[in-house]
Amino acid sequence: MPAMPAPVLSPRRKTRKIKVGDVYVGGDAPVSVQSMCTTKTHDVNSTLQQIAELTAAGCDIVRVACPTQDDADALHAIARKSNIPVIADIHFQPKYVFAAIEAGCAAVRVNPGNIKKFDDQVKEIAQAAKDHGTSIRIGVNAGSLDKRLLEKYGKPTPEALVESAVWEASLFEEHGFHDFKISVKHNDPVVMVRAYEMLSERGDWPLHLGVTEAGPAFQGTIKSATAFGALLSQGIGDTIRVSLSAPPVEEVKVGIQILQALNLRPRKLEIVSCPSCGRAQVDVYELAEKVTAGLEGMEVPLRVAVMGCVVNGPGEAREADLGVASGNGKGQIFVKGEVIKTVPEKDIVETLIEEAMKIAETMEPVEGASPEVIAAS
Ligand code: SF4
Repeated sequence: MPAMPAPVLSPRRKTRKIKVGDVYVGGDAPVSVQSMCTTKTHDVNSTLQQIAELTAAGCDIVRVACPTQDDADALHAIARKSNIPVIADIHFQPKYVFAAIEAGCAAVRVNPGNIKKFDDQVKEIAQAAKDHGTSIRIGVNAGSLDKRLLEKYGKPTPEALVESAVWEASLFEEHGFHDFKISVKHNDPVVMVRAYEMLSERGDWPLHLGVTEAGPAFQGTIKSATAFGALLSQGIGDTIRVSLSAPPVEEVKVGIQILQALNLRPRKLEIVSCPSCGRAQVDVYELAEKVTAGLEGMEVPLRVAVMGCVVNGPGEAREADLGVASGNGKGQIFVKGEVIKTVPEKDIVETLIEEAMKIAETMEPVEGASPEVIAAS
């Protein structure tokens, strides 16, 4: 019998489907995960190296900065050699928008708030993008909101962010260009969530979610998970970027975990471990860490329960594919709900890893873990 799809909190909102290189965004395409290189774009080798690391971590689409002519000159080589679609991120200088399109970037992110006379150039940008099959992201950001709107609203409120985005969208649409997605980022998850909710009511544009300048890894993860969770659980959001003051691979890992937690991406390895408490009869933290490290990179949907005592241990261990309930210096090992053996505490990690490998061999790798990709013609 085919496996039932995992339940989600609400159906995806209907959005227009666009293409970013060979990855679809919006419509029925899976929510994709993006990140941004921290390398200097003109350092082609370092940038490609980082893109390769991001690709290996599961990143679907990558963005690179383009503040100088040297960076613009490097885009062609990067776009050609990258295994995932490359988006050029353009601020201030409209000439780089055209350079990125001509270089073969999959998409260009434009920030209308800080590109001088941006509105006057939408027609040419739309035409160039259309000619090259390039999509656009209209990236409105609280930190660089159009001065007009800042004066009108006093600060980057949700209404101000949405008004800016809707205005720019209308300009592209006036010129018959529809291959764009929109972001309205703010560093405050509450403002950001409200802005996206409002924006999603105004049109069927695919939306790129982001809490901008979310902070260091711990804070940024919490802010992003909270905001994305609030939106994705309403079906809002077609592609996400977790912004962390941390290596970009961490952003990808967090993004994927958020999608997996919401069943928007099939779960792979899942460690169910208890928080430990005064009843624990084993060092749960160490046990969970060692098991996680030993099973890193596993591509099958294996659920492993690591429990500190017999209160909830046997119950959780039974529900998982594999589990351990610890007590009295021993670990009861469960496979598919049955106790298969009891081992001394020192052998728990090794036994779990051994059994996990045996079960993994009988499982199919997770399918559909990546967004729908257009077949090469
Ligand atoms: S399983 Fe046992 S040790 Fe772990 S939190 Fe529950 S009661 Fe505490």
